[in-house]
Amino acid sequence: MAREMTVVGGGAVGLGCALAAADAGWRVRVYDAGPEGRAAQVAGGMLGCLGEAHPGEDALLAVSADSVARWPALLERLGDPQVQAAASTLLVAGSATDRAHLDEQAAYLRLRLPQAVLEPVSAGEIREAETALSRNTAGGYRLRGEGAVDNRRLLAALRRAVTAAGGEFAAPGRVSAGDLASLPGDQLLVAAGLGSAELLPGWADELGLRGEKGEILRLRRTGWSVPPPEHVVRGRWHGRNVYLVPRADGVVVGATQYEADGPGDLLPQAGGVADLLLDACELMPGLRTYELLEAGAGIRPVSRDGVPVVRRLDDRLLVAAGHGRNGIALTPGTAAQVVDLLGEPG
Ligand SMILES: Cc1cc2nc3c(=O)[nH]c(=O)nc-3n(C[C@H](O)[C@H](O)[C@H](O)COP(=O)(O)OP(=O)(O)OC[C@H]3O[C@@H](n4cnc5c(N)ncnc54)[C@H](O)[C@@H]3O)c2cc1C
Repeated sequence: MAREMTVVGGGAVGLGCALAAADAGWRVRVYDAGPEGRAAQVAGGMLGCLGEAHPGEDALLAVSADSVARWPALLERLGDPQVQAAASTLLVAGSATDRAHLDEQAAYLRLRLPQAVLEPVSAGEIREAETALSRNTAGGYRLRGEGAVDNRRLLAALRRAVTAAGGEFAAPGRVSAGDLASLPGDQLLVAAGLGSAELLPGWADELGLRGEKGEILRLRRTGWSVPPPEHVVRGRWHGRNVYLVPRADGVVVGATQYEADGPGDLLPQAGGVADLLLDACELMPGLRTYELLEAGAGIRPVSRDGVPVVRRLDDRLLVAAGHGRNGIALTPGTAAQVVDLLGEPG
């Protein structure tokens, strides 16, 4: 009889691991505290490996590249074509200084990931690819094959797939550190995002998790608006970063990044919202007629060195946490690591 695996955490990482374990033959049960504070609920959904690459982050780039290469198989496994929101990305500079910043990022990528396909594009080529973008760009790069998912559709599709593969969702779903020893299961994975530190107090120092807050907006197209872009548009816009991630009915605009004031710091600040709106509407002027559906904030669970902590803690206990600004992109790679760590199901 197949052995049982319990997952604590039903964000992107927990559900991705639960599905991969079920597919590998484990009987899976998931405990989840719900969407409040779940970073995957508010995320932009970019599958960014190249667009998220920053000089000095070599180890993160290697795990991101591995995970992003696994996304086509996960999308096929989920079987919902609407989970995928975009298939490629444009990096767009707002000024010559911004262009120099993107050139530096591209030079780093060519050095560390020679197989990366980055095509320099002029301002005119950017307008050809996305006619609603500003005329006042300084060009940029096209990243073919680096797309995005609709994060909320993804979470729903993962839950459906886990259930269809025989997995169960326990109620009530919130557990405490004291409950872990008595939860059922031959193997127990803690994948509770920022909540993982509180669940594993004995390892909190070692995990070194901290929270990085980010504001993010959801804009909806109206009957008289220009359509959303087809690409993910990552703007380096007059010294700030702003991205536009297409959705079926609009655009997700993200995201600020600063130290969170504790796990309950979940309300967007006016300044962050104002900066995002200003930059997004300059980058794509037609966004001014979109409706502001949601101004939200979330907290990215960040590890000490920026690389997710995916490891076995003892004979029964594993952890997958600290996925920072790339947790959705890193989901299939983490799931593959966890399945390796679990060993044979029976
Ligand atoms: C503004 C913003 C934009 C982002 N954009 C992107 C992006 O474009 N691309 C990308 O790849 N990443 C993005 N991220 C990062 C991404 O959202 C996270 O890295 C990812 O969600 C981490 O996944 P997770 O499953 O570890 O944690 P979470 O998504 O936070 O999920 C943790 C889950 O654990 C549950 N939980 C917590 N404590 C307990 C408990 N005690 N008992 C039971 N359950 C518990 C919670 O209810 C939650 O469902 C963004 C994040 C933010 C904040």
